[in-house]
Amino acid sequence: MFLDQTYLFTPGPTPIPNRVNAAMAQPMIGHRSPDFSALFEDVANRLKPVFGTTHPVLALTSSGTSALEAAVVNTVSEGDEAVVIVAGSFGDRLASIAEKYGVHVHRLNIEWGKACAPDQLETFLDGLAGTQIKAVFATFNETSTGVLNPIHELGEVVGCRTDALFIVDGVSCIGAVPVDMAADRIDLLVTSSQKALMLPPGLAFVAFSDRGLRAIQECTAPRFYLDLNRYAASFEKQKSTPFTPAVSLLAGAREVCTMIEEEGWENVIRRHRLLRDMIRAGIRELGLPLLTSEADASPTVTAVKPEQIAAPDIQKALKKDFSITIAGGQKKLKGKIFRIGHMGYCTPFDVLKVLTALELTLAKFGAEPRLGAAVKKAEEVWMKNA
Ligand SMILES: *Cc1c(COP(=O)(O)O)cnc(C)c1O
Repeated sequence: MFLDQTYLFTPGPTPIPNRVNAAMAQPMIGHRSPDFSALFEDVANRLKPVFGTTHPVLALTSSGTSALEAAVVNTVSEGDEAVVIVAGSFGDRLASIAEKYGVHVHRLNIEWGKACAPDQLETFLDGLAGTQIKAVFATFNETSTGVLNPIHELGEVVGCRTDALFIVDGVSCIGAVPVDMAADRIDLLVTSSQKALMLPPGLAFVAFSDRGLRAIQECTAPRFYLDLNRYAASFEKQKSTPFTPAVSLLAGAREVCTMIEEEGWENVIRRHRLLRDMIRAGIRELGLPLLTSEADASPTVTAVKPEQIAAPDIQKALKKDFSITIAGGQKKLKGKIFRIGHMGYCTPFDVLKVLTALELTLAKFGAEPRLGAAVKKAEEVWMKNA
């Protein structure tokens, strides 16, 4: 109806708050200026609680996949042995990157739609006893299935069974879930700007432990743009980046830090859990099967596997009738599921909008009308948590 009224519920990119857009529209500054150094240092420090780290958080100008590639080329070299947990298409991507660089990858394949249980990793690592595993890679939140892996428990298993690095793709959940790199035994944690961090695409963020930093320094694999040593050195020396960064996005990131601080980090985490619980309660009320169990459910993205109506038809109808964009399935789940992103700049009220649209859409496709049912359930969850 109104072309500017669009609703973005994809698990990245995500909606941008107006105040972040305004911050990004400020006059350009040079990346070798004191103004930039002040900005960059501010962002690097204020992101610490969000990454659960005591080290400043570094930024690369590139998409999330570059952060995955950086995590690989700065820690493992050709011929090294590594374990990659593959529970969906992003775990698969991580494994593929490592394989491309000649790393000997042991894939721990998990059924898509399920989390990796700690004992599955334990058994897998036991089976590799005698192999010198340099690193274990995991996807924190498998965006393709809507699964949140138990990263703390997985980190404990890695620590107990090996002296491998624990490297985590946190792309679709950092900024929405609690994480403590020391307690979770994470050595390298990466994300990108366009998911829970409420920014446009274009930045990747990297946080590391002392051990992680040492591994980066000692790693001999060839790399140039993604050499994290350059980024660490440039931060150390001049609070800047080795190459021209996306200055505007970093100005936006500073505003995001302010927004997270104003809401309160604990409240941000709580809000995402509420969004998950509301959307799941609503979807269930509509009789649509959820792909994941309660225990494995992601607080940032929910996957639904409809049986009577084809998932792509629901996706198309939401777009056509309501200007709501959701995501479909990837790879082996293509055409079988739809995914609703609810991270970053997303409120409980936004969830009611998407549930309303789903109620009307199912009725349109001839399902027995359940008008108001999903919204009511979600509202009840909201009230209980308010
Ligand atoms: C989105 C996403 C990525 C990839 O990010 P790009 O910015 O598209 O390169 C990697 N891992 C996970 C878990 C993601 O959700």
